Amino acid sequence: MRIWRGLRRIAGGAVLLICALTVPLRAQSVGMPAASPTAAAAAPARAQAAYSLPPEQLAKAVALSRIRITLGIAGAVWGMVFLWLLLATRGWAALERRMQGITDRAWMQRGLFFAAFIVITSLAGLPLDGLAHHFERAYGISVQGWGSWLSDNAKALGLALVLGTPILLLFQSVVKRRPRRYWLDAWAVTLPILAFLLFVEPLFEPIFNHFEPLQKNHAALVNELEKVAVRTGTDIPPSRMYLMKASRKTNGLNAYVSGLGATKRIVVWDTTAGRIPDAEVLFIFGHESGHYVLDHIAKGFAGSAVGLFFLYWICAGSAASLLRRFGQGWGATDLQTPDSGPAEGPPGLDSCTGFVVLVFTISIAMFLTEPVSNAISRHFEHEADVYGQEAIHGIVADPQKTAVAAFNALGAAWLEDPHPNALVVFWLYDHPSIQQRAEFAAHYDPWADGGHGQFFSYQGSGDDRSGRELEALDDAGGARGQSSVATTFQMPPAQKR
Ligand SMILES: [Zn+2]
Repeated sequence: MRIWRGLRRIAGGAVLLICALTVPLRAQSVGMPAASPTAAAAAPARAQAAYSLPPEQLAKAVALSRIRITLGIAGAVWGMVFLWLLLATRGWAALERRMQGITDRAWMQRGLFFAAFIVITSLAGLPLDGLAHHFERAYGISVQGWGSWLSDNAKALGLALVLGTPILLLFQSVVKRRPRRYWLDAWAVTLPILAFLLFVEPLFEPIFNHFEPLQKNHAALVNELEKVAVRTGTDIPPSRMYLMKASRKTNGLNAYVSGLGATKRIVVWDTTAGRIPDAEVLFIFGHESGHYVLDHIAKGFAGSAVGLFFLYWICAGSAASLLRRFGQGWGATDLQTPDSGPAEGPPGLDSCTGFVVLVFTISIAMFLTEPVSNAISRHFEHEADVYGQEAIHGIVADPQKTAVAAFNALGAAWLEDPHPNALVVFWLYDHPSIQQRAEFAAHYDPWADGGHGQFFSYQGSGDDRSGRELEALDDAGGARGQSSVATTFQMPPAQKR
């Protein structure tokens, strides 16, 4: 679920705010294949497993999975090390001093510093991102050329500058205003900013990809999607169903729901519509609908609000300790700006360099708390899987087989490792593994003995369901008019960074 990752990243403040916006958008620009067939290692045949790959693909999936995990962890660690390196070598302090020499206006000095900060940290992450793109291309996931990839990165950087610079300025002004209790104010302003970024995200999607009405070439699929939309109460008419031209950049499969209120829409990638059976697209849509109907967005917000309260509190204390101990060595304490407020907070906190120390502590805290937020995300994803299967019951011939087939198509398209290490899943996966999802789907059949599902009360085939369920959904705060954000069905770890 993209929202969760977005919430967490955004919540981290400064840099993380920017990542939240740009990473999900770039995530859709996955690359493509040219994979060198690896010798099919003597992989034990697991014919009975719900998700399996032929030996050659399996070997590739295992290898690519290792690469993704390594690069993912390396990217997170490098981000923290890079911030620290430029603190320890007084790089950030030198940059701040240089900006002070350009203009006398304090707000402009800070604006220039933060713009430069965004550019520098983005460029620092580019080599590892490039390496990840290289491997996605080599393994046949990405088909995006380097020119297009660089262009997407440049656009993402432009967006980060336009949106991130004022946000960083705002955060720093909060810090300067109340140096001792700023974390409380920062927490209070983060939540509306988060909501705003999630609201505007769909508006930026056309910058990175082309869209056309789904009706144009997939009228039959639209009809089927409408059936699920009516059943789940997601209230998305055909005019708000789109086809995204993902095939220009990737061979991966995906569909997602994004938007807010009247702009809510479903997007199906053109690598998905027409390439896997419509029934499987319906299941993916059912899953996405589940995130809306089950209030995952509101719950995610509430959870983030609680988590951020403690995270900001702890990070403010850590940043203060670091500044007292290293502030002078890092050049933060002798960088008083002309409009410095009362010196009541930690030394150097009111400088831009001092602010970077705070960002540094937040990035560490985010990394360490990743297992917690991922565990919550996996719970939501599982719920959405259950909901998706129930939503298509009676609309497709066999919901179990359909869901299992969809997971296999998904796993094969992204080369997902069928047997990921449990620790890796625990720490890094924001979805259950494909294997776990497929296993569950294969055995989930609450209707077998005349029962009904968790989220719909119809029994038997599901066709005879009255309007009662829809009303019940609406009463329970169903999806109608509910605020929403983009959620994705599945992304491999490399794309989720
Ligand atoms: Zn999901």
